[in-house]
Amino acid sequence: MHELSICGSIADIVARRAAGRRVTKIHVQIGQLRQIVPDTLVYCWSMVSAETQFDGAELVVDRVPARIRCRDCEETTEVGDIPLLVCTACNGISVSVVSGEEFMVTSMDLAEV
Ligand SMILES: [Zn+2]
Repeated sequence: MHELSICGSIADIVARRAAGRRVTKIHVQIGQLRQIVPDTLVYCWSMVSAETQFDGAELVVDRVPARIRCRDCEETTEVGDIPLLVCTACNGISVSVVSGEEFMVTSMDLAEV
């Protein structure tokens, strides 16, 4: 499953940043175009993190809507629920993705020592 490998990456990133401190909450930003289901990700995280140093750390998923910029009319528009990369202003298909491909650990909360 896609989400499982992502959880593995999250664990790697957080382990490096936490440097042995206890983590209570992890905030991740996931772009809409990543095709990741937040609920599935949270569920996978609970499995991946169990009995590791991150056991009990809560994963908070922040979804970033996909936005595209049209090279023809220069309009920046938000992509709907079905991520079609077509300009909604002029129906042009010469577009570049402005946002929606994010995958990053934005912040994390550490336990008080
Ligand atoms: Zn356009």
